[in-house]
Amino acid sequence: MRRTRIVATIGPASDSDEVIRDLMKAGVDVFRLSFAHGDIPSCIERLRRIRALAPDLALMVDIPGPKIRAGSFGTTPVELHVGDEIELVEAYDEASSAQRIAVERLGVLSMLRKGDKIHIGDGGVSLDVTSPGKSAKAVVSSGGSVMGKPGLSLPSSILDDRLPTEDDRARLEALRGESFEILAVSFVRSAFDIVSTRSVLSRDDVMLMAKIETREGVENLDEIISVSDAIMVARGDLGVRMPIEEVPHLQKEIVLHGIRYARPVVVATQMLESMTHAQVPTRAEVTDVANAVLDGTSAVMLSGETAIGDDPVGVVVTMDRILRRAEKSFDYDNWGTSLGVQRITGAGSRAIRITAAVTGAAWRAAMEEQAVAIVACTRSGMTVRAISRFRPPMPIVAITPSESTARQLHSSWGVQATYVSPATDIDDLCDFAITQIKLSGLAKSGDTVVVMAGSASGGAAITDTVRMIIVP
Ligand code: PGA
Ligand code: MN
Repeated sequence: MRRTRIVATIGPASDSDEVIRDLMKAGVDVFRLSFAHGDIPSCIERLRRIRALAPDLALMVDIPGPKIRAGSFGTTPVELHVGDEIELVEAYDEASSAQRIAVERLGVLSMLRKGDKIHIGDGGVSLDVTSPGKSAKAVVSSGGSVMGKPGLSLPSSILDDRLPTEDDRARLEALRGESFEILAVSFVRSAFDIVSTRSVLSRDDVMLMAKIETREGVENLDEIISVSDAIMVARGDLGVRMPIEEVPHLQKEIVLHGIRYARPVVVATQMLESMTHAQVPTRAEVTDVANAVLDGTSAVMLSGETAIGDDPVGVVVTMDRILRRAEKSFDYDNWGTSLGVQRITGAGSRAIRITAAVTGAAWRAAMEEQAVAIVACTRSGMTVRAISRFRPPMPIVAITPSESTARQLHSSWGVQATYVSPATDIDDLCDFAITQIKLSGLAKSGDTVVVMAGSASGGAAITDTVRMIIVP
């Protein structure tokens, strides 16, 4: 049993049917597809092909937002030395060099101020702006090599396009009829960004995951989480937009906030980075992954490691081993009691408050009676996410009438099995649950199982019942 979920990014190294099948066997729970590269029709075609290969897992589509790129430096590394002066120009499809960088966004250079920092790529190369304007000048403050078309991190006050951007809008429109479970939204800065993205996508069966990767995203964390369905600690961009020494502490804060709101949280970027080319990870990476588990994260993400790495399957196998070991050292007893204030959102909805209270009672009952499983009957998945935040040591089993909910639950911590059943009556649901978990080997005769179910009284189904069942 593994509780922490693995998200794997698909790219050229993992795009074949064969590798995708092997990745599933190795334990991937969520596939991430970036919709930043390639034209929309080819992105959609890839999404459909992976859906067909992975009908039961969760698919995450990642839209790029206002990421600004430099014109290409070419395929051989170009060295930028500290103190070098560089000219910046706004231009599309022009080459960049060590003397002149093409910035692929009109109107941004005159918004710069003297002294602003521009980071190039994730590799620590940065410039200080010395003279802003249509044709700006900057001096290299941290040197290194760059190649290809790296991203440029300008001060985020300049990225003042509201989300979704024009490009994102076209992607969202193309995604309206497609089958996927999670939309990852890049560079979210306010709750408004999520609300407006949701209205353009106009679907309620897709979870919106806010990528926290800007200073404003951190500052507005609470309002963003309250309108999002899931959260990503996007350490790559976060590490260039915030002082890098803040990253580990922001990770802890974002993970804990997300869980209090019962949102799945993904810790992302450079988790096993060295394995892009090496066969074994560094000690620091293994320790980082284990610490993410101890921080309580729902999932960990692989980016370049599986997208362009030498051995995507080997990386997932390694990740799986580290997670399983770390989970043995997780403090399950104290997590639930020290979870602290649970943030209840949804406009003070009584259904949500009752679900929160009932899941708290179910967790306590399961702990005190050492139940072998907690079963949650759920339509939207909310009840499962609400019990999952307590991080119980026993498996969580979901029963839902919705196949799309079942797939989404692959992003939630600790959900061991999901069954689809159309039953609505509490007795029928309990019978179905007990039969299934006996068949799956999660419970045997004489064990105690906690079941949460709802009544449909008053129209909406509310999880209002906790049963403790001694398995016959
Ligand atoms: P990206 O997001 O890989 O899409 O940039 C993750 C991050 O910034 O860490
Ligand atoms: Mn990012």
